[in-house]
Amino acid sequence: MPQLTFSDHSRVFKNYTYVYPVLSRRSQGISLGINLNINNACNWRCIYCQVDGLVRGKPNDIALDKLEYELDQIISLVFNTDFLIEYAPTGLQRLNDICISGNGESTLSNNFLAVVKIIAKLRTKYNITDKVKTILITNGSEFEQQDIQKSVTIISENSGEIWFKIDSADTRGINLINQVNLSPESIAKKLNIASSLCKTYIQTCMFKIQNNNPTNENINNYIHFIKQFKDKIAGILLYSVARNPMLPEGNNISQVSLEFLSTIANKIEQYGINVKYYI
Ligand code: SF4
Repeated sequence: MPQLTFSDHSRVFKNYTYVYPVLSRRSQGISLGINLNINNACNWRCIYCQVDGLVRGKPNDIALDKLEYELDQIISLVFNTDFLIEYAPTGLQRLNDICISGNGESTLSNNFLAVVKIIAKLRTKYNITDKVKTILITNGSEFEQQDIQKSVTIISENSGEIWFKIDSADTRGINLINQVNLSPESIAKKLNIASSLCKTYIQTCMFKIQNNNPTNENINNYIHFIKQFKDKIAGILLYSVARNPMLPEGNNISQVSLEFLSTIANKIEQYGINVKYYI
């Protein structure tokens, strides 16, 4: 396998099923991704989704022994071989995180708690320090489930971060962007649970629809929503679509400018909320 690049988003490594390394521009290092949704199933259908062949549903059961073997082997490669030198360019030869980020919502997996326990076990086995985070990228839909709360507590104890997806804070926008019927109040309830259990960032994708930026009304609703979480969240991660979406519903969407994200970031920062933005 050649060196990883920022544009390489392949989730295929060797003959692995669940674990894949990616080079992350955001973290300036390597992330070890874990994909529990190998059937490309998600309960949402975000119009910017980049999962090829996305279907509605939930993941099948995981072969936990295979997942543990793959994660153990790749961590061993990172710490015991020239893996980072071989796969990452100079300056980015560092492991930033182990990230649960699948081709669909990971917390839908019946095996989610078991997977989190495997990550914690291997972090201990390899003496992985707090510099390497355990990240869960999630739409937050399952946070009222006890097993998920237990899992998130374990993630938190393992240098955890939750990246909680909120792309819009009004019912119409949520329906349009995430293609799911959810009220802002229900998202707020789940976000409250997440942020009470683990360090939590809100992750927001902003993009143009038919070449129009999000409206002032969309932005105002969004900022009004997030400012109530000012003291509960670690910050906001703002980004835009980087590649063509895979869904036909996404044909009309395109990237906003970095200046646009910067303007939104400035507005949010006025409320004392930390914002990182990137394209
Ligand atoms: S939650 Fe993630 S995987 Fe699911 S549809 Fe949205 S972007 Fe795709």
